[in-house]
This record gives sequence, C-alpha cells and structure tokens, in this order.
Amino acid sequence: MSGVLVIGAGGVGSVAVHKMAMNPELFSHITLASRRVHKCDAVAASVKQRSGVIISTAALDADDVAATTALIAAVKPEVVVNLALPYQNLTIMEACLAAGVNYLDTANYEPRDEARFEYSWQWAYQERFEAAGLMAVLGCGFDPGVTSVFTAHARKHLLDRIDTLDILDCNGGDNGLPFATNFNPEINIREVTAPSRHLENGAWVEGPALTHKQVFDFDQVGPRNMYLMYHEELESLARFYPEIRRIRFWMTFGESYLRHLEVLQNVGMTRIDPVMFEGREIVPLQFLKALLPEPATLGAMTRGKTNIGIIATGEKAGAAKTVYVLNICDHETAYAETGNQAVSYTTGVPAMIGAALMLSGQWKGDGVFNMEQLDPDPFMELLNRHGLPWQVRDLASPLAF
Ligand code: NDP
Repeated sequence: MSGVLVIGAGGVGSVAVHKMAMNPELFSHITLASRRVHKCDAVAASVKQRSGVIISTAALDADDVAATTALIAAVKPEVVVNLALPYQNLTIMEACLAAGVNYLDTANYEPRDEARFEYSWQWAYQERFEAAGLMAVLGCGFDPGVTSVFTAHARKHLLDRIDTLDILDCNGGDNGLPFATNFNPEINIREVTAPSRHLENGAWVEGPALTHKQVFDFDQVGPRNMYLMYHEELESLARFYPEIRRIRFWMTFGESYLRHLEVLQNVGMTRIDPVMFEGREIVPLQFLKALLPEPATLGAMTRGKTNIGIIATGEKAGAAKTVYVLNICDHETAYAETGNQAVSYTTGVPAMIGAALMLSGQWKGDGVFNMEQLDPDPFMELLNRHGLPWQVRDLASPLAF
C-alpha cells in the first residue's frame, strides 16, 4: 500500500496530485482534501483527463484537529502531504500524531497575527514525532526544499567546506497582469514586506525590506534586479551547517510589482492586524487576497522561465572553489503538463518527490527533519526524472558583492 492524503487544492496541491497520478507505481491511491471540495473535484477531473487516474476527494477544514484526524483515520494514508497554508501546519501535525501517520509540508508554520518565518513551533514537535516513531519532513518545496537539497549536494559532492552561500530565486515569468502573486498572495506579501535578514559571521544582520538590490544575469532569463530578503531556510541552514559564515537569500521583483506593493503598503492594505469595517473586523491583507487572482488561475497566461539556484564558495582538496547549482523551469511547459505555472510546479514536484522517498523508505527517520538533514542523492536523481533537471557550474570567482 502506498496511499497519500494531500491537503490543499491550490496551485501547489494541484501540481503535486497531477505528478503523483503520473507515477502510479509510487502512489497507489491519492486523496485530495481542501476547504472547498469543488476545487478538489476540479483537480480530480483534470487528473482523470490527463492521466486516466481516479483520485478521491474530500472537504476538510484543516484548522480542526479532530476533523483532520478523522479524515486521516478514514483514508489511512502512509503520509499526509500538507499543501494548505502555513497556518494549518500545527493542526495537521497534531492530527498526524493522533492518527499515527507521517507528515510533509513546504513552508514553515506561521501564526495568523504576526509574520515570523521561523521553525521554532515545528521543531518543538521533535520529541513527540520521535517517540511516536513517525517522520515529519519540513519545507519540501523549492525554496525551502530543493535549495536546501542543492546545498546538501554541494557539501556532500562538490566542496569539503562551505564558507558562503547565496540562494538566488528568479521568476522571469510574465503573466501580463499589473500585479499578481504567483503563490498564495497573503503568504507572499507577508514574506516580501518583512525586514531583510541574513547571516554574517554567526550573527543575523537586519535591514529594511526590499532596499538592498543587485543586478544578476540569470541564464535564459537575462539581467534582473534581485533583492536581499529573509527566507525561512536561512534559519535551518544556519543551524545544520554552522560552518557557513555568510548565508543570503535574493529574490527578483519587477518594477510594476514593487510599485504596486509600495502603494498597497502605504495605504495599509498589507496590514495583518484586524481593523473595524462596517461593524466587523477584517484583516486588510486577507481582503486584498480576495481581490487578487488565485495563483492556480495564472498558468494559462504566464510566459517565461524561473531560474532558482545556490552559489556556494568554499574549499575542495585544499583549493578555493565556487559552485552554482541551479534549475531552470519553463512556465508554459509546466502548464502544458499539469495546468499550472512554474512557481506552483517547482513547489509541487519536490513535494511529490519527498512523499515518494518517504513511501519507498529511502528517506526514513523518527522525528522532525529539515531537507538538508536528509540524503540528497535520491532526491537529486528524482528531480532529473520528474521535470526539474538541475545543472552544476564551476564559477571562476565568488560573487563580487
Ligand atoms: P493557494 O492559496 O493556491 O492554495 C492553498 C489551498 O489551501 C487552497 O486550496 C485553500 O482552500 C486551502 N486551504 C486554506 N485553508 C485551509 C484549511 N483551513 N483547511 C483546508 N484547506 C485549506 O496556495 P499555493 O498552492 O500557492 O501554496 C500552497 C502552500 O505552498 C503554501 O503554504 C505556500 O506557502 C507554499 N509554497 C511553498 C513554496 C516553496 O518553494 N517552499 C513556494 C510556493 C508556495 P480554498 O481555496 O478553499 O481557500
């Protein structure tokens, strides 16, 4: 038996389920549950049309531990793949413990009222998962996820020591809209409006959001402005690779996106604290989310490529060395295969691969694991086989900035 329960029928959940259905030897039975069951049914219809596979669907409020436990007990999966929102991580982990099932997600838990981007709440589950003999894999998307595995690969095969690490995330795609986010708008805007933070000689250095930029020439995309940001994998990479002196995360943004974001911020539309409106409380960012296009609807109109990778400097056999490990993914190819754009694709495929490795027993362990703690080799092999081929380039010199 190799059954899986996927929770969350957005862009990422849709990609993961399509890819699972394309690999019936890895996933014998798939159930997709989400808040609104009609979204699950739409994914199920597309999966049936594309691969002939019939999946089960269910309505679920994953904020409700008892309801989630009951669904897991009824479905009896070997792993629960959480592709809902970061707010649901703890309730789904609780339900997995109650039902005795392994867990995987793609983003750190977030409290609704404060943007934190930290792992403390989920790391606190270490002892309970260990005692239950269960495995929880955290952050199995692209970043975090593949970028963490690229780092583990670089450390295992390319460098004897890593001194500096830069994660470069470029979405060179264009959806023709003046302002849309390519994953959940609420989480995306919380992330990009947070202060920047990077690690420098063992200490965190903070700065204002989206102010420090560099131009980088991304292969198959071209030169783009990329901005220093905080991203959750910095915390786990700093913890599991204490040898790395400097870790930074960069993401590209276009002028139009930044202009809109600045206005939205200035007028208070990105606030996550409740305000009174016509006698009831509303959270401005949640209201804004309701106005913006759902990421799952952007696939048909997005052209261009993503280019995401890591640049690590360090030493190999006594000599200084800089390596660049990257993946380039085409929005239109991703859409043709799964009906979703490349940002959902580059997150959903790693989630499928992580679940496959847990089902096959190639990744096993009791407790809570970040991606860089696990053997990168089988994951890297499956990336090449399932639509996210990677390349390694030796760079003549470290980044000049
Ligand atoms: P979407 O907003 O498109 O989808 C989220 C889905 O979760 C929706 O179908 C939503 O249902 C469902 N959901 C929300 N609340 C609940 C609930 N209480 N119970 C059950 N289902 C619920 O987001 P994405 O698909 O773009 O992103 C999914 C996840 O992937 C997010 O956590 C995001 O942070 C993460 N991500 C990670 C990346 C990485 O590289 N690591 C990159 C991109 C995303 P409904 O439609 O009914 O509201």
